[in-house]
Amino acid sequence: MLFKDLNIIEPILKAVEEAGYEKPTPIQEKSIPRILEGRDILGCAQTGTGKTAAFSIPVLQNMVKSKKNNDRRRSIQTLIVAPTRELAIQIGENFTTYSKHLNIKNTVIFGGVNQSSQVRKLTAGVDVLISTPGRLLDLQNQGYVDLKNVKYFVLDEADRMLDMGMIHDVKRIIAKLPKERQNLLFSATMPKEVTKLVNSILKNKVKVEVEAVSSTVEVISQGAYMVAKKDKKSMLVNLLRDETIKSVIVFSRTKHGANKIAKDLNNVGIDATAIHGNKSQNQRQLALKNFKKGSLRVLVATDIAARGIDVDELSHVINYDLPDVPETYVHRIGRTGRAGRDGVAITLCDSEELGMFRRIEKLIGKAIPILGQEEFEIKESIIAEKSLKQADKQKNSSNKNSKRKYYGKGKTQGSRNKNSKFNSGKAKSVNNIY
Ligand code: AMP
Repeated sequence: MLFKDLNIIEPILKAVEEAGYEKPTPIQEKSIPRILEGRDILGCAQTGTGKTAAFSIPVLQNMVKSKKNNDRRRSIQTLIVAPTRELAIQIGENFTTYSKHLNIKNTVIFGGVNQSSQVRKLTAGVDVLISTPGRLLDLQNQGYVDLKNVKYFVLDEADRMLDMGMIHDVKRIIAKLPKERQNLLFSATMPKEVTKLVNSILKNKVKVEVEAVSSTVEVISQGAYMVAKKDKKSMLVNLLRDETIKSVIVFSRTKHGANKIAKDLNNVGIDATAIHGNKSQNQRQLALKNFKKGSLRVLVATDIAARGIDVDELSHVINYDLPDVPETYVHRIGRTGRAGRDGVAITLCDSEELGMFRRIEKLIGKAIPILGQEEFEIKESIIAEKSLKQADKQKNSSNKNSKRKYYGKGKTQGSRNKNSKFNSGKAKSVNNIY
């Protein structure tokens, strides 16, 4: 199927073509016709499936069709609420791309920055408002946001709003909207609270589902290195020495950890910047901008900061730490392998993280290949052989290898440290492993 088969109007078709899209993704194929019909949608899809275009394109078209000739002043007709600033900004960029040949203006508002430039844009008049919940309520209470003309309401990543304690704000926003409107709600998972929300806002809904949360990872090559905590740093450095890694997000569980990783990398001459909740919005934006345009190769991020980040051509994700919950692993690795592209996700797992590693494997329904195992086994047999010869020669001397600590399935971490390519400073091309 092609975009033109979806009855999309010429100016939007042209913009989509200019964006380089050849055909609609499954979520677009399923959602666009129903949204054009005016139906409420419950979309079960996560970032990376093309869902932003799945709602932006038909909403823009519906706006064009419902525009009256006597509409002189702009007023907010479409309201999109998203959980994070980064995601809101990305949705705004998408709207700008698809509305390039239309007379429709959007703006994005979010907290953590001075409100004055946002207020200026709102006062000048916008047709589409994209916002995080807190700032929206704030500016609405101050009288800068008028929601009485909203006809299209999009709630993106509802499950993450729940995680981030924003669901009450969302309910407050919904209470301020006109009763007559089209509702589009997207959520990767459907926890109880979200189901309640869905039932309270969607009327006569159509459910549109693409892949379950654990299956979007199919196009991503995954692998893990079993490594002692103290060796993670040198392992990461060696992995990043591989020039075939063009752009990579390194995930850290904590803000402090992210800072430390970035600092350690900088110390060995690898340019890296950390983003997390303690960085100012300007620092976060600058790092993301540089990362997206390719002038920054390594971004070290916590999970909150990385939510929804969409970077074209992101080749690798490295989990320096395992996340706190298995679902986060899926979200993390979903930063790569987007819109059908290949991606590589590498996890550094230490012995304390093995339990979480197994829970992740259970969630995604498959074993994550352990990398470096083959070279490790060859080295192991060489060591064993050497030890035998040594034992023959020095019958009375003690065998140092017997003191090696066990790690994993009968493998010894001590010998891995001494003998793996990573610890001898020669990183194998990660791409070659896949
Ligand atoms: P999203 O799920 O909205 O975050 O989209 C993920 C990525 O897919 C973004 O970089 C979009 O620009 C891209 N994308 C969306 N629709 C298509 C399409 N039909 N063909 C190719 N890429 C697309």
